[in-house]
Amino acid sequence: MTATDIAIVGVGKIARDQHIPSIAADPGFTLAATVSRSGGVDGTENHETLDALLEARPDIPAVSLCMPPVPRYEAARAAIAAGRHVMLEKPPGATVAEVFALERLAREAGVTLFATWHSRHAAGVAAAKDWLADKNIRRLRVDWKEDVRKWHPGQAWIWEPGGLGVFDPGINALSIVTEIMPVPLHLSAAELSFPENRDTPIAADLTFAGPGDIDATATFDWRQEGGEIWQIEIETDAGTLKLTEGGDRLFIDGAEQEVANAGEYPELYRRFAHLIDTGASDVDPAPLIHVADAFLLGRRIVTAPFHD
Ligand code: NAP
Repeated sequence: MTATDIAIVGVGKIARDQHIPSIAADPGFTLAATVSRSGGVDGTENHETLDALLEARPDIPAVSLCMPPVPRYEAARAAIAAGRHVMLEKPPGATVAEVFALERLAREAGVTLFATWHSRHAAGVAAAKDWLADKNIRRLRVDWKEDVRKWHPGQAWIWEPGGLGVFDPGINALSIVTEIMPVPLHLSAAELSFPENRDTPIAADLTFAGPGDIDATATFDWRQEGGEIWQIEIETDAGTLKLTEGGDRLFIDGAEQEVANAGEYPELYRRFAHLIDTGASDVDPAPLIHVADAFLLGRRIVTAPFHD
Protein backbone atom coordinates (compact mmCIF):
# COMPACT_ATOMS: atom_id res chain seq x y z
CA MET A 1 0.00 0.00 0.00
CA THR A 2 1.40 3.45 -0.90
CA ALA A 3 0.80 6.12 1.69
CA THR A 4 -1.04 9.29 0.66
CA ASP A 5 0.79 12.53 1.43
CA ILE A 6 -1.31 14.84 3.58
CA ALA A 7 -0.91 18.34 4.99
CA ILE A 8 -2.39 19.58 8.27
CA VAL A 9 -3.70 23.15 8.28
CA GLY A 10 -3.82 24.80 11.73
CA VAL A 11 -1.56 23.25 14.32
CA GLY A 12 -3.44 23.79 17.58
CA LYS A 13 -4.67 21.54 20.39
CA ILE A 14 -6.56 18.96 18.35
CA ALA A 15 -3.89 18.74 15.64
CA ARG A 16 -1.21 18.01 18.26
CA ASP A 17 -3.34 15.77 20.53
CA GLN A 18 -4.96 13.64 17.83
CA HIS A 19 -4.31 14.32 14.14
CA ILE A 20 -0.51 14.23 14.14
CA PRO A 21 -0.24 11.01 16.24
CA SER A 22 -3.04 9.34 14.23
CA ILE A 23 -1.38 10.14 10.88
CA ALA A 24 1.99 8.94 12.25
CA ALA A 25 0.43 5.60 13.21
CA ASP A 26 -1.52 5.16 9.96
CA PRO A 27 0.27 3.39 7.11
CA GLY A 28 -2.24 5.00 4.71
CA PHE A 29 -0.94 8.56 5.24
CA THR A 30 2.34 10.48 5.52
CA LEU A 31 2.41 13.94 7.07
CA ALA A 32 4.19 15.80 4.25
CA ALA A 33 3.71 19.41 5.39
CA THR A 34 1.85 21.75 7.69
CA VAL A 35 0.31 25.18 7.30
CA SER A 36 0.85 27.09 10.51
CA ARG A 37 1.23 30.73 11.42
CA SER A 38 2.97 29.72 14.65
CA GLY A 39 5.67 27.40 13.28
CA GLY A 40 4.05 23.98 12.81
CA VAL A 41 5.76 20.76 13.84
CA ASP A 42 9.50 20.24 14.37
CA GLY A 43 11.07 18.47 11.40
CA THR A 44 8.06 18.91 9.08
CA GLU A 45 8.00 21.36 6.16
CA ASN A 46 5.81 24.33 7.09
CA HIS A 47 4.07 27.01 5.03
CA GLU A 48 2.68 30.18 6.54
CA THR A 49 -0.43 30.21 4.37
CA LEU A 50 -2.56 27.61 2.65
CA ASP A 51 -2.12 29.40 -0.69
CA ALA A 52 1.67 29.02 -0.32
CA LEU A 53 1.31 25.28 0.34
CA LEU A 54 -1.09 24.75 -2.57
CA GLU A 55 1.26 26.53 -4.93
CA ALA A 56 4.52 24.96 -3.68
CA ARG A 57 3.25 21.38 -3.25
CA PRO A 58 0.88 20.33 -6.06
CA ASP A 59 2.02 16.75 -5.28
CA ILE A 60 0.24 16.67 -1.89
CA PRO A 61 -3.24 15.32 -2.72
CA ALA A 62 -4.97 15.71 0.67
CA VAL A 63 -5.36 18.30 3.42
CA SER A 64 -6.82 18.05 6.90
CA LEU A 65 -8.27 21.33 8.15
CA CYS A 66 -7.82 21.61 11.93
CA MET A 67 -8.43 25.31 12.46
CA PRO A 68 -11.55 26.82 14.14
CA PRO A 69 -14.80 26.80 12.13
CA VAL A 70 -14.96 30.41 10.89
CA PRO A 71 -11.84 30.39 8.65
CA ARG A 72 -12.48 26.81 7.52
CA TYR A 73 -14.85 27.45 4.60
CA GLU A 74 -12.39 29.69 2.76
CA ALA A 75 -9.56 27.17 3.30
CA ALA A 76 -11.71 24.25 2.13
CA ARG A 77 -12.89 26.17 -0.92
CA ALA A 78 -9.29 26.98 -1.91
CA ALA A 79 -8.10 23.40 -1.36
CA ILE A 80 -10.97 21.93 -3.37
CA ALA A 81 -10.36 24.45 -6.18
CA ALA A 82 -6.74 23.25 -6.21
CA GLY A 83 -7.97 19.66 -6.66
CA ARG A 84 -7.17 18.38 -3.16
CA HIS A 85 -9.15 15.91 -1.04
CA VAL A 86 -10.33 17.67 2.14
CA MET A 87 -10.98 16.45 5.66
CA LEU A 88 -12.85 18.90 7.91
CA GLU A 89 -12.66 18.96 11.72
CA LYS A 90 -16.04 19.33 13.37
CA PRO A 91 -18.18 21.38 13.04
CA PRO A 92 -17.92 21.25 9.24
CA GLY A 93 -18.70 24.97 8.89
CA ALA A 94 -19.63 28.13 10.70
CA THR A 95 -22.99 28.05 8.88
CA VAL A 96 -25.12 25.29 7.40
CA ALA A 97 -25.11 26.84 3.92
CA GLU A 98 -21.30 26.75 3.84
CA VAL A 99 -21.41 23.00 4.27
CA PHE A 100 -23.82 22.53 1.37
CA ALA A 101 -21.67 24.84 -0.76
CA LEU A 102 -18.53 22.82 -0.01
CA GLU A 103 -20.30 19.55 -0.76
CA ARG A 104 -21.31 20.89 -4.17
CA LEU A 105 -17.83 22.29 -4.92
CA ALA A 106 -16.19 18.96 -4.03
CA ARG A 107 -18.64 17.04 -6.22
CA GLU A 108 -17.99 19.36 -9.17
CA ALA A 109 -14.21 19.13 -8.67
CA GLY A 110 -14.30 15.33 -8.34
CA VAL A 111 -12.48 15.31 -4.99
CA THR A 112 -13.33 13.73 -1.64
CA LEU A 113 -14.85 15.87 1.12
CA PHE A 114 -15.03 14.27 4.55
CA ALA A 115 -16.91 16.25 7.20
CA THR A 116 -15.78 14.40 10.31
CA TRP A 117 -17.71 13.83 13.53
CA HIS A 118 -15.07 12.26 15.76
CA SER A 119 -17.51 11.29 18.54
CA ARG A 120 -19.36 9.02 16.13
CA HIS A 121 -16.24 6.84 16.26
CA ALA A 122 -16.21 6.54 20.06
CA ALA A 123 -16.00 2.86 21.02
CA GLY A 124 -19.65 2.33 22.07
CA VAL A 125 -21.47 4.21 19.32
CA ALA A 126 -21.76 1.54 16.62
CA ALA A 127 -23.01 -1.06 19.13
CA ALA A 128 -25.48 1.45 20.59
CA LYS A 129 -26.86 2.13 17.10
CA ASP A 130 -27.27 -1.60 16.44
CA TRP A 131 -29.03 -2.21 19.77
CA LEU A 132 -31.44 0.70 19.30
CA ALA A 133 -32.32 -0.12 15.69
CA ASP A 134 -35.46 -2.18 16.49
CA LYS A 135 -36.50 -0.49 19.76
CA ASN A 136 -39.27 2.01 20.46
CA ILE A 137 -37.78 5.09 22.07
CA ARG A 138 -39.56 6.63 25.06
CA ARG A 139 -37.04 9.05 26.50
CA LEU A 140 -33.68 10.60 25.56
CA ARG A 141 -31.60 12.48 28.08
CA VAL A 142 -28.25 14.05 27.10
CA ASP A 143 -25.93 15.55 29.72
CA TRP A 144 -22.76 17.11 28.28
CA LYS A 145 -21.06 19.13 30.99
CA GLU A 146 -17.42 20.14 31.29
CA ASP A 147 -15.22 22.89 32.69
CA VAL A 148 -14.48 25.35 29.88
CA ARG A 149 -11.32 26.51 31.68
CA LYS A 150 -9.97 22.95 31.66
CA TRP A 151 -10.92 21.99 28.09
CA HIS A 152 -10.57 25.27 26.19
CA PRO A 153 -7.85 27.26 27.95
CA GLY A 154 -7.08 30.53 26.17
CA GLN A 155 -9.20 29.69 23.08
CA ALA A 156 -10.62 33.15 22.28
CA TRP A 157 -12.40 31.94 19.12
CA ILE A 158 -14.96 29.82 21.03
CA TRP A 159 -16.45 33.05 22.44
CA GLU A 160 -16.51 34.87 19.10
CA PRO A 161 -19.48 34.75 16.68
CA GLY A 162 -19.25 31.44 14.83
CA GLY A 163 -17.24 29.87 17.68
CA LEU A 164 -20.38 28.05 18.94
CA GLY A 165 -19.63 28.45 22.67
CA VAL A 166 -20.90 25.42 24.62
CA PHE A 167 -22.14 23.90 21.35
CA ASP A 168 -18.49 23.28 20.41
CA PRO A 169 -18.52 20.21 22.73
CA GLY A 170 -22.32 19.88 22.67
CA ILE A 171 -22.32 19.20 18.95
CA ASN A 172 -20.33 16.04 19.71
CA ALA A 173 -23.30 14.73 21.69
CA LEU A 174 -25.63 15.73 18.85
CA SER A 175 -23.39 13.90 16.37
CA ILE A 176 -23.86 10.71 18.41
CA VAL A 177 -27.62 11.23 18.85
CA THR A 178 -28.16 11.81 15.12
CA GLU A 179 -26.14 8.66 14.40
CA ILE A 180 -27.77 6.22 16.84
CA MET A 181 -31.42 7.28 17.11
CA PRO A 182 -33.65 5.05 14.98
CA VAL A 183 -36.15 7.92 14.54
CA PRO A 184 -35.54 11.53 13.48
CA LEU A 185 -35.80 14.35 16.03
CA HIS A 186 -36.15 18.06 15.55
CA LEU A 187 -35.61 20.88 17.98
CA SER A 188 -38.79 22.27 19.56
CA ALA A 189 -37.43 24.65 22.23
CA ALA A 190 -34.13 25.95 23.59
CA GLU A 191 -32.77 28.20 26.33
CA LEU A 192 -29.31 29.59 25.74
CA SER A 193 -27.33 31.26 28.54
CA PHE A 194 -24.92 33.93 27.33
CA PRO A 195 -22.38 35.48 29.73
CA GLU A 196 -23.06 39.23 29.59
CA ASN A 197 -19.56 39.87 28.14
CA ARG A 198 -19.55 37.07 25.51
CA ASP A 199 -21.08 36.43 22.06
CA THR A 200 -21.64 32.67 22.42
CA PRO A 201 -23.51 30.64 25.07
CA ILE A 202 -21.92 29.04 28.13
CA ALA A 203 -24.91 26.71 28.65
CA ALA A 204 -27.88 25.43 26.69
CA ASP A 205 -31.05 23.44 27.43
CA LEU A 206 -32.64 21.83 24.39
CA THR A 207 -35.97 20.06 23.91
CA PHE A 208 -36.65 17.89 20.88
CA ALA A 209 -39.82 16.58 19.27
CA GLY A 210 -40.10 13.31 17.38
CA PRO A 211 -42.57 10.57 16.60
CA GLY A 212 -45.30 9.94 19.20
CA ASP A 213 -44.84 11.50 22.62
CA ILE A 214 -41.09 10.96 22.87
CA ASP A 215 -39.52 12.90 25.76
CA ALA A 216 -36.14 14.17 24.51
CA THR A 217 -33.91 16.79 26.13
CA ALA A 218 -30.24 17.81 26.22
CA THR A 219 -28.31 19.93 28.68
CA PHE A 220 -24.93 21.37 27.76
CA ASP A 221 -22.98 23.29 30.40
CA TRP A 222 -19.46 24.69 30.50
CA ARG A 223 -19.67 25.69 34.18
CA GLN A 224 -19.19 22.13 35.40
CA GLU A 225 -16.68 21.80 38.24
CA GLY A 226 -15.06 18.53 39.21
CA GLY A 227 -15.17 15.78 36.60
CA GLU A 228 -16.81 16.14 33.21
CA ILE A 229 -20.09 14.38 32.38
CA TRP A 230 -20.51 13.32 28.74
CA GLN A 231 -23.45 10.93 28.76
CA ILE A 232 -26.51 9.93 26.77
CA GLU A 233 -29.31 7.85 28.27
CA ILE A 234 -32.06 6.37 26.13
CA GLU A 235 -35.07 4.59 27.62
CA THR A 236 -36.83 2.18 25.28
CA ASP A 237 -39.68 -0.34 25.48
CA ALA A 238 -37.05 -3.06 25.90
CA GLY A 239 -34.59 -1.55 28.34
CA THR A 240 -32.36 1.44 28.94
CA LEU A 241 -29.15 2.22 27.08
CA LYS A 242 -26.48 4.49 28.46
CA LEU A 243 -23.36 5.83 26.76
CA THR A 244 -20.85 7.46 29.09
CA GLU A 245 -17.39 9.02 28.74
CA GLY A 246 -18.25 10.63 25.43
CA GLY A 247 -19.51 7.37 23.94
CA ASP A 248 -16.57 5.16 24.92
CA ARG A 249 -18.53 3.05 27.45
CA LEU A 250 -21.87 1.40 26.77
CA PHE A 251 -24.34 0.04 29.33
CA ILE A 252 -27.60 -1.82 28.71
CA ASP A 253 -29.86 -1.95 31.77
CA GLY A 254 -26.81 -1.15 33.89
CA ALA A 255 -24.62 -3.95 32.49
CA GLU A 256 -21.47 -2.77 30.75
CA GLN A 257 -21.06 -4.09 27.20
CA GLU A 258 -17.72 -5.02 25.66
CA VAL A 259 -16.88 -2.48 22.98
CA ALA A 260 -13.60 -1.54 21.34
CA ASN A 261 -12.19 0.04 18.20
CA ALA A 262 -8.96 1.67 17.06
CA GLY A 263 -9.88 5.02 18.62
CA GLU A 264 -11.80 8.02 17.28
CA TYR A 265 -9.09 9.70 15.21
CA PRO A 266 -7.41 6.54 13.86
CA GLU A 267 -10.91 5.50 12.72
CA LEU A 268 -11.41 8.91 11.04
CA TYR A 269 -8.18 8.61 9.04
CA ARG A 270 -9.01 5.02 8.09
CA ARG A 271 -12.37 6.26 6.77
CA PHE A 272 -10.79 9.22 4.94
CA ALA A 273 -8.42 6.81 3.14
CA HIS A 274 -11.38 4.60 2.17
CA LEU A 275 -13.38 7.59 0.87
CA ILE A 276 -10.42 8.75 -1.26
CA ASP A 277 -9.88 5.20 -2.58
CA THR A 278 -13.51 4.85 -3.58
CA GLY A 279 -13.95 8.39 -4.93
CA ALA A 280 -16.68 9.12 -2.36
CA SER A 281 -17.52 11.94 0.06
CA ASP A 282 -19.17 11.88 3.50
CA VAL A 283 -20.93 15.09 4.52
CA ASP A 284 -23.72 14.96 7.12
CA PRO A 285 -24.86 18.38 8.37
CA ALA A 286 -27.51 16.94 10.78
CA PRO A 287 -25.73 17.86 14.07
CA LEU A 288 -25.01 21.40 12.82
CA ILE A 289 -28.66 21.83 11.80
CA HIS A 290 -29.77 21.17 15.41
CA VAL A 291 -27.30 23.81 16.60
CA ALA A 292 -28.48 26.31 14.00
CA ASP A 293 -32.09 25.61 15.06
CA ALA A 294 -31.14 26.24 18.71
CA PHE A 295 -29.79 29.66 17.74
CA LEU A 296 -32.96 30.29 15.66
CA LEU A 297 -35.45 29.19 18.30
CA GLY A 298 -33.55 29.69 21.54
CA ARG A 299 -34.67 32.01 24.30
CA ARG A 300 -31.64 34.11 25.26
CA ILE A 301 -30.77 34.41 28.94
CA VAL A 302 -28.01 36.77 30.07
CA THR A 303 -25.83 35.37 32.85
CA ALA A 304 -22.76 36.35 34.89
CA PRO A 305 -19.72 37.55 32.91
CA PHE A 306 -17.10 34.95 32.09
CA HIS A 307 -13.39 35.66 32.51
CA ASP A 308 -10.71 33.11 31.56
P1 NAP B 1 -6.93 25.68 18.89
O1 NAP B 1 -6.11 24.96 19.90
O2 NAP B 1 -7.31 27.10 19.15
O3 NAP B 1 -6.14 25.56 17.52
C1 NAP B 1 -6.61 26.03 16.32
C2 NAP B 1 -5.41 26.34 15.41
O4 NAP B 1 -5.91 26.75 14.14
C3 NAP B 1 -4.57 27.50 15.92
O5 NAP B 1 -3.58 27.05 16.82
C4 NAP B 1 -3.99 28.05 14.65
O6 NAP B 1 -2.87 27.24 14.30
C5 NAP B 1 -5.04 27.75 13.57
N1 NAP B 1 -5.83 28.90 13.15
C6 NAP B 1 -6.01 29.27 11.84
N2 NAP B 1 -6.82 30.31 11.76
C7 NAP B 1 -7.19 30.62 13.00
C8 NAP B 1 -8.03 31.61 13.56
N3 NAP B 1 -8.66 32.51 12.79
N4 NAP B 1 -8.18 31.65 14.91
C9 NAP B 1 -7.54 30.76 15.70
N5 NAP B 1 -6.72 29.77 15.21
C10 NAP B 1 -6.56 29.70 13.88
O7 NAP B 1 -8.28 24.91 18.59
P2 NAP B 1 -8.54 23.34 18.66
O8 NAP B 1 -9.01 22.97 20.01
O9 NAP B 1 -7.42 22.62 18.07
O10 NAP B 1 -9.87 23.27 17.75
C11 NAP B 1 -9.83 23.35 16.35
C12 NAP B 1 -11.04 22.62 15.80
O11 NAP B 1 -10.97 21.26 16.25
C13 NAP B 1 -12.38 23.18 16.31
O12 NAP B 1 -13.32 23.17 15.28
C14 NAP B 1 -12.78 22.21 17.42
O13 NAP B 1 -14.18 22.10 17.55
C15 NAP B 1 -12.19 20.91 16.90
N6 NAP B 1 -11.92 19.94 17.96
C16 NAP B 1 -11.23 20.29 19.09
C17 NAP B 1 -11.04 19.34 20.11
C18 NAP B 1 -10.26 19.65 21.37
O14 NAP B 1 -10.21 18.78 22.26
N7 NAP B 1 -9.62 20.79 21.51
C19 NAP B 1 -11.56 18.07 19.96
C20 NAP B 1 -12.19 17.73 18.78
C21 NAP B 1 -12.37 18.67 17.80
P3 NAP B 1 -1.52 27.85 13.72
O15 NAP B 1 -0.96 28.70 14.79
O16 NAP B 1 -0.75 26.61 13.46
O17 NAP B 1 -1.86 28.64 12.49
